[in-house]
Amino acid sequence: MPVPKRKTSKARRDKRAAGKKETVVIISRCQTCNAPVLPHQVCKECGHYKGIKIIRTKTDRMYERNQARQAKQKANAPVGKPMEQPAEQAPKK
Ligand SMILES: [Zn+2]
Repeated sequence: MPVPKRKTSKARRDKRAAGKKETVVIISRCQTCNAPVLPHQVCKECGHYKGIKIIRTKTDRMYERNQARQAKQKANAPVGKPMEQPAEQAPKK
């Protein structure tokens, strides 16, 4: 493995670093949910871009999964047996 012959001086090192500049990241706000987003990119929180739904987010998928699971449970529920009513109903005034 090649090894540098001499230590890089601070001046030489810093001269190299002078060409590299920190870039300023401009962050804007999502129009729909007001979350910080990079400009010209879809909001990762709600999946909207300029007020239009573009992508399904993790939360959307989780919601759909729960809906499907509940529908499946309803379909598998025993038929003919009435649903359990809440034991006590508040009297109407
Ligand atoms: Zn958003």
